[in-house]
Amino acid sequence: MKNLIIDSIDSWNIKKQEKLIIAGPCSAESYEQVMETAEELSKFNVNILRAGIWKPRTRPNSFEGVGKPGLKWLKEAGEKFNMPVTVEVANSGHIKEALDSKIDILWIGARTTVNPFTVQEIADSLKGVDIPVMIKNPVNPDIDLWIGAIERLNQAGIKKIAVIHRGFSSFKQCEYRNIPEWELIVELRRRIPELPIICDPSHICGNRELLLSVSQIAMDLLYDGLMIESHINPDTALSDASQQLTPKNLKKLLDNLQLKREYIKDKDFHIEIEKIREQIDAIDYKIIGLLAERKKLSENIGKKKKLKKVSIFQPERWNAIAESRISTGKKYNLSEEFILKLFSKIHQESIGIQRKK
Ligand code: PEP
Ligand code: MN
Repeated sequence: MKNLIIDSIDSWNIKKQEKLIIAGPCSAESYEQVMETAEELSKFNVNILRAGIWKPRTRPNSFEGVGKPGLKWLKEAGEKFNMPVTVEVANSGHIKEALDSKIDILWIGARTTVNPFTVQEIADSLKGVDIPVMIKNPVNPDIDLWIGAIERLNQAGIKKIAVIHRGFSSFKQCEYRNIPEWELIVELRRRIPELPIICDPSHICGNRELLLSVSQIAMDLLYDGLMIESHINPDTALSDASQQLTPKNLKKLLDNLQLKREYIKDKDFHIEIEKIREQIDAIDYKIIGLLAERKKLSENIGKKKKLKKVSIFQPERWNAIAESRISTGKKYNLSEEFILKLFSKIHQESIGIQRKK
């Protein structure tokens, strides 16, 4: 993307392996909790220690973070166990306190990214400061709003930027606390290839059971790192208890992850892959050709409906299309979800085409 200047994570000068691992409690709760968690995390490859100090909570009167004293605990833990530390900031006051306490890295939470006024306030108060900033996705799946936040920070001179994918809230009930919408991240990577992307499986999952599979998807999609909540005694946590892992279980999860590489040196592998890709390309062009034929038919039917003053949208016809395509898809082992998504798009397009007639 034009006009963005984003440095790689290597410029942050952080000791790390292939992937950046950020871990720590959802919230700093007490001096002991922060120190004990940090000590355990420092025993394996955690590169950055996280803790929320000011907590954005859905309802009032729940634990809203320990505030300023937590900054001191976190910094002390980071220095003692040799880890840079990061906190969430949501306004210029937080930034002043975080910078005064020499916090190494800042992150912007999902409820803040969504608000351009607040993001601009944060950007303005970071002018002239050289600090890495990680920007969580906005709560709603709006890629431009997310990119807008990156631009605001970048225009204020922040070049050490990464994004954190923590999923998107939805009214729909599903297995995730926040739906990942992986395709949005694929699109973000297409638009800003140099942007480091970190996955936060904790807030995507909302529980411990799904953490490994979501983290593995992130590795398969070549994310640059993970931010995972870890608490010395998760069941007693004052926020997000059900999704936090003990440091020991976090280590197990990291040991079980398979890292994937974008490229390998293996001639035979590349030859085989190329052959398959040629076939995939040929099929894709066929699909486009068929869609063009379908478009002509939509135009034709659109004209006829217009002439007779018949509505473009025909609910019964659409129900029949959805049902029959889903059941045919099933015969070929294509999931209902995929076929419905695909044909909804095709049907929507057809309605648009007919409207123009
Ligand atoms: C958090 O990281 O604890 C947090 C509040 O995250 P989010 O902004 O993703 O909800
Ligand atoms: Mn949390």
